[in-house]
Amino acid sequence: MFEKEKCDLCGECLEKCLNQSLSLEQAQAEFKKLFSGEYSPVLEKCVTCFACEENCPTGAHPFELILEQMGKWGKKPSSEQAIVQAEARYVSDQEYLPPALSGTVISGCVFPKTHPHLFSGPLFENATILKGRMVFCYVLFLHMGDARVIARRAPQMIANLAKTGAEEIVFFHDDCYALVHDLAPRMGIKVPFQAKHIIEHARDWLQANRQRIKPLGIGIAYQRPCASRYSPGKERVVDEIFDLIGVERVERQYDRKRSLCCGGAYLASGKSAGSLQEKNLRDARESGASELVCLCPICVDMLRPQADQLGIKLTHILELVHHALA
Ligand code: SF4
Ligand code: SF4
Repeated sequence: MFEKEKCDLCGECLEKCLNQSLSLEQAQAEFKKLFSGEYSPVLEKCVTCFACEENCPTGAHPFELILEQMGKWGKKPSSEQAIVQAEARYVSDQEYLPPALSGTVISGCVFPKTHPHLFSGPLFENATILKGRMVFCYVLFLHMGDARVIARRAPQMIANLAKTGAEEIVFFHDDCYALVHDLAPRMGIKVPFQAKHIIEHARDWLQANRQRIKPLGIGIAYQRPCASRYSPGKERVVDEIFDLIGVERVERQYDRKRSLCCGGAYLASGKSAGSLQEKNLRDARESGASELVCLCPICVDMLRPQADQLGIKLTHILELVHHALA
């Protein structure tokens, strides 16, 4: 929910949006329209990257106002039919039967099936991997312009995870972590376990196994996923991992608060991401980095075709960690 009482109409959320190209004055005027329930072209230009959530200095959650107004003005990035079909793809009426637990409990979402190579290696030894539709987080639907799907489905997803009886669950996907750690508590959904991000798990493992690290001594560019806008405190953990494995996160134009969407949100919103991806990848290359490192496997998949054409190496952060282990 947009927290209206926290908003002072400063316009920063839209002025800093890399997709709207508004001066501060224009941003203030457009946000004022949204605030008053009036139509604004901002709704059509929005690619649902969540950056305004991070850029609002008062924590008012402007993207949630944008979602409300997209619904009101018929400007959701995806059609109602596409939303209904996507929801049907992920919902299951079956009862969730959690596996017997051993070691670290890691919720892998659908990725153990689509990206099995990312679930092997020492970080996953003896771990219990929860996977499949029953633990799918539905954050995708924010990119489709419909927060109601999350409100409908998140309680069951969290109840399924709670059924494991785990006190702490590690989340592989940034979207799942955003849901459980940030969105669900704000939606009034009780989360009866501790949520930990996969990079916190990786950082802790590396700190406990320093003797196994062979510093890589390379400079990389980092691709920050959209969902990280909900938990910006994690940036520190990403940097800690790079320090531990001897990697320099090179300065580039589109990183940290100015990072660009990989194109996944554009796809969900039916817009072409070609020029945006090229801008992002060329920036990574010009930074002098030897590779572009992604936290989200979807970013790797989305950027792969253009990265291959431009000769840019793409790596998932867990692959990089594994490369650094003796
Ligand atoms: S979600 Fe992204 S594209 Fe949409 S207004 Fe916010 S910053 Fe801009
Ligand atoms: S939502 Fe936040 S950034 Fe946007 S106008 Fe209101 S206070 Fe400013």
